Formats: sequence, structure tokens, C-alpha cells
Amino acid sequence: MSKEVRVRFAPSPTGPLHIGGVRTALYNYLFARQNNGKFILRIEDTDQQRFVPGAEEYIIESLTWCGIKFDEGVHVGGPFGPYKQSERKTIYKQYADFLIEKGAAYYAFDSAEELDQIRKQYEAEKKVFQYDLHTRTSLKNSLTLSESECNDWINSGKPYVIRFKMPENRQLTLNDLIRGEVQVNTSTLDDKVLFKSDGLPTYHLANIVDDHLMEISHVIRGEEWLPSLPLHYLLYEALEWTDSMPLFAHLPLLLKPDGKGKLSKRDGDRLGFPVFPCNWNNPDGELYPGFREWGYLPEAFINMLALLGWNSGTEQEIFSMDELIQRFSIEKINKSGARFDPEKAKWFNQQYLKKIPTKELVKINKPYLIEKNIHVSDEVLETVTELMKERAVFPKDIINESMFFFQKPDTYDEVAIKKRIKPTSLAHFEKICSIIEHISVFEHQTIENAINEFCQTNQIGLGEVMIPLRIALVGTTKGPHLGEIMEVLGKQESLDRMEAFAEYMKHFAF
Ligand code: GLU
Repeated sequence: MSKEVRVRFAPSPTGPLHIGGVRTALYNYLFARQNNGKFILRIEDTDQQRFVPGAEEYIIESLTWCGIKFDEGVHVGGPFGPYKQSERKTIYKQYADFLIEKGAAYYAFDSAEELDQIRKQYEAEKKVFQYDLHTRTSLKNSLTLSESECNDWINSGKPYVIRFKMPENRQLTLNDLIRGEVQVNTSTLDDKVLFKSDGLPTYHLANIVDDHLMEISHVIRGEEWLPSLPLHYLLYEALEWTDSMPLFAHLPLLLKPDGKGKLSKRDGDRLGFPVFPCNWNNPDGELYPGFREWGYLPEAFINMLALLGWNSGTEQEIFSMDELIQRFSIEKINKSGARFDPEKAKWFNQQYLKKIPTKELVKINKPYLIEKNIHVSDEVLETVTELMKERAVFPKDIINESMFFFQKPDTYDEVAIKKRIKPTSLAHFEKICSIIEHISVFEHQTIENAINEFCQTNQIGLGEVMIPLRIALVGTTKGPHLGEIMEVLGKQESLDRMEAFAEYMKHFAF
């Protein structure tokens, strides 16, 4: 690659960052790292009406949580700053003026109300209004008004905008690194506003100017921006920057789990999974849940996201960030949308959870246990964690599934009792209590041996003893090996629970 790779993530602070946005940031990051380039965070906040307080901080916090780091940006500075468009206000006007002078843009004086009215007239005739080469000649702009009328308007301080003058009938062939050649005829496109009446540029102008001034080499962004590519291309051309125009890659959409349409916040609510990296408290008071607070590990989240739209071409599914940096390639990004699979997301988390050292998990879960008003030593918690972590998806699962270690069962699974315990097994249960009472080294292997031996000598099926015992200790038929449970509980606690269950069973109506 001849010039230095410089890529940017350019979110607008209009709300929380959707996981699709995180994926865009991730692919840019991987690409920058792989090519020893620079990764830049630019905040595109020229649309003041859609500005949401806290969104910028949320974006930074979320990406930091994910382990996506920037070399330059609004929060870290850098030689091409400022990196927030509202702080670059004075830069853009000269470029809009340059386009006017060249005849590539024009002033438009139509008010929002006037345009609305025209739009309605079109609708009434079942047509769609577009400010374009067909309509511009009958609207109020510097192409239809005289020079002095235009000057008077501008000098009087009345609002106006600057629009791009879309050329007529040019067949453009654009190149996208993922999609290949994209053809479009300019006659179908509208005259987008470049500069607004509030003195700020629109996204299109500010984005192109900043990409140019920040020497961006590759624009990697969501597919929703593909329709803007012809305009962006023409803007580079009109601004005489074609030679240094970045290369473009438009990423496929993230789709709903059933593949029908774009993944949205509502799918998350409806189907019970997060679509945002971290919790977001919406100004209307609603809480949007985040992967972080759900108990996703950042490494698992990143691994899952990386594979939504990209594949290594091998069977490998588990990738560390370093491996992703090595293996990532734009060529292997799929053209078609990537379906979000909440079960697969959980699977990734489970794989990563297993790898976390037990001591670390204890540290993560300690506050949660205290919140539940349970106080046990780290040693006990470590033993329990060791026994339970294999099956857990989230760290909290370890605690939620282990409550029986810390609290006596307050109910017993009656359905299981009816189905799996014969009234005659109760006699065995009492005998096993006394056997357990006499075990001197209360350690899982000895306990299990004693139970096995009892079953063998009395020729009883193992289940006939194990099931009542398990219900007595756990309350249900779930949990790890019985010997292990009993070892953790200790002899006295195990016996207390067994006695309580024997008492309960005396009155049980089978
Ligand atoms: N501000 C745009 C957004 O919010 C950036 C699009 C681009 O990367 O060009 O997605």
C-alpha cells in the first residue's frame, strides 16, 4: 500500500451506539492495526437537532470496554484536530463557496414550508418530490433568480441553503472494495443540501472535507451510506481532490435473527437480547440493556461481532483480538447481510468464560453475592466456581445456579419427587443418612464410594438413592456430582438437609 493507512470511525452523537456501529469501528480498527496505520475517532455532530447529550461519552466508553483503541480523536487529540465537527465550524464554508464559484453548487431560498407544500402536491398526484435537475428550474434558487435578487436575499440575512448541483446524465462507475463496481446515472440523484441555514455544513460536505483534511485513506462504513457514494465521489471531483480520494468499503447490514430485515432495538426487547454494547439510559427514562451489563465478556463480544459479516475462510471460530488483527481482510467480508444469532453470542461467551481463571471469576462475582446478602469465604466460592463454571454462560449464572450451596432449599421439586421417587425408597434414604453420618473423611470420593457400596450390597439401583439425596440437598434434580456438593456443604449441613427432607417426605402425598 503506497500511502499511510488512515481510517476513521465517524459516529453522530444521536443516541447509543448500536452493535452494528461497534462492528464498523472494529473492522476499521483491525484494518488500521494490520497495516500499521492510524485509527481516528471523529464526532460528526453538525446536525444539532439530533444531538443527544451523553451519546459521545457513551460511544467512547463502549469502545473502550471492547478494547478498541484510537490513535487520534476527540478524546485523545492528535495532529489533525479538532476531531469534533462542531469545533471545526469555520473550516467548511470556504469549500461550499468554492463549489458555488465553480458552478458545482447553488443557493436555494425555498423555505421548509414551501417545500413541504410542494411535496404534498406531488403526493396528491401519487408522485415523489425530489429537489433535482427536473425540479430545480422551477424552484427558488440562484439558478432561477437574478444575481441581484440572490445578493439581496443573502445580504438581508434571510435563511438560505447551499445545494449540490447534480450533473445531468453522467454514467458513474464507482468502486467499492466489497461490492466491486457500482453503476449509477446522475440524472436519478437529487441535489443534496451541503450547507444549512444554521451556518453549519450537512453530513455530506463535512464528511468529505474532513476525510480529505484528515488524509483518510479508506472509508469503511455501513451499507446505509452506499447510496451517498455517488454524491461523495462527485464532491471529491468538484473539490478537485480525486487524486487523494479514499477507497470505499461498505459493510453488510446486521440482520434480525430470522434474517428478515435490519436488527433493531425492538428486536432486542422482543426477543430478549441486548443490541447495545453497554446500558444506555434514554432521555425518556427507558433503559436500553447492554452486552456488558448482561455479563458478556468484551473478548467474546468482539469475537462474535468480528464473525458477523467476515470469515477467515477456515473452520476456526475463536479469535483473540491479536489473531483478528493478523487474519482480517476486507476481501473476506460478505456482501450479504449478517444474521445476528443470540444463541451463538451466548456460545461465544461460554467459551471465553471457561478460560477465565477461577480466582478472577470469584472477584467478578463477589459483589453480586454480597448484593444477595450471602457471605462466604473466597475459598468456598472458589470451590463452587470451579464446580459450576463449565456450564455457565455469564459469570452471574455461576452464582444463580449455586444458591443451594449457600442456602438450604426452601422448596422441593414436587413434580420430580412424584415422578422419580418411590415411597419404598424412603427406607433406603434413612439408612443412607446413617451411613453418611459415619463417614470420617468427608471428601467427595469417600462419600461416593460409600453410596455405591451401599447400593451394591443392598442391590438397589443407584438412582433410587441418588435422586432423593439430591433433592434433599439441592431441592431439585440439578447440580454437579453429589459427592462434590456434600463435600462443599460439609457433613453437618448435609445431614441437616437430609433430615429436613426425611421429615418432609413423611407427610408427602404421593
Ligand atoms: N456520521 C456518519 C454516521 O453516523 C458517518 C458515516 C461515514 O462513515 O461516512 O454513521
